[in-house]
Amino acid sequence: MTQAPARTDILDLARDQVLRGGVGFDRDRMLDVLRLPDSRLEELLDVAHDVRMAWCGPEVEVEGIVSLKTGGCPEDCHFCSQSGLFASPVRAARLDIPSLVEAAKQTAKTGATEFCIVAAVRGPDERLMAQVAAGVEAIRNEVDIQVACSLGMLTQDQVDQLAAMGVHRYNHNLETARSYFNHVVTTHTWEERFETLRMVKEAGMEVCCGGILGMGETLEQRAEFAADLASVEPDEVPLNFLDPRPGTPFADREVLPATEALKAIAAFRLALPRTILRFAGGREITLGDLGAKQGMLGGVNAVIVGNYLTTLGRRAETDLDLLVDLRMPIKALGESI
Ligand code: SF4
Repeated sequence: MTQAPARTDILDLARDQVLRGGVGFDRDRMLDVLRLPDSRLEELLDVAHDVRMAWCGPEVEVEGIVSLKTGGCPEDCHFCSQSGLFASPVRAARLDIPSLVEAAKQTAKTGATEFCIVAAVRGPDERLMAQVAAGVEAIRNEVDIQVACSLGMLTQDQVDQLAAMGVHRYNHNLETARSYFNHVVTTHTWEERFETLRMVKEAGMEVCCGGILGMGETLEQRAEFAADLASVEPDEVPLNFLDPRPGTPFADREVLPATEALKAIAAFRLALPRTILRFAGGREITLGDLGAKQGMLGGVNAVIVGNYLTTLGRRAETDLDLLVDLRMPIKALGESI
């Protein structure tokens, strides 16, 4: 009787294909990684860290974000306390240009190389585009920092305007797997989001596209999501973990266990060996201080410092001290990778 050939261990395959070959895992391999037992977590984090060092290097990109327009959004993303459709305690507010420039200066002082202007909207109207144009120009005149924007879904004309302003990166998350999207958002489609990303890429801006883990998606859908992201070929992937906000439809969802979150980070690194993988919102509640270190040693190579849009983050100094401890220099990533 002939024996079936022994199946290659998934982490041996990762060392061979991803670490040595630089070829990211597809959806099926990613699923094998997500299904690894907790007893292999340390080994998985080590491989993910080696992949990051081999294909991205030790540098870390640090970014600050500021909200130009907060709350009152007409969309219904079930995780978001900025939706005007939920009884969430986020008050609608707008920031003026001098405050925006001041925020960019403070961000630059932390050593951050990236400053992202965010607005809680379905897509920008003329007034918001004019405000962004004035803000980007003022920042470029006064602060040495790269400007990114996150303004929702765009028209071709708006994409062209942002490119002409010198916005070098645009953030627009796909949020979750295509097959799970309508459990998370019902006021627009995954395809509409994808279309904005396509236009941004075509216009030559860098694409920042990630999402939120722990919203009730299965492991299969988490693997599908990584494959969806890989197909966009993003320059940066921000990984958020659900921080259930009061008043939102996901208020009662369980926080993702730390081991599962760390496994996901490492698995995303194996799917996207060359991409900037950024720790974004929800990591404090999911991972705590220790987890931040494990994540930085398990595939992540970028962080958002300070506060997020609607939740408080760790102090910027805490993150920056951690990077010094880990001997990971701060650097602008992107074109150099
Ligand atoms: S995630 Fe963005 S589009 Fe969705 S409700 Fe929040 S601010 Fe609006």
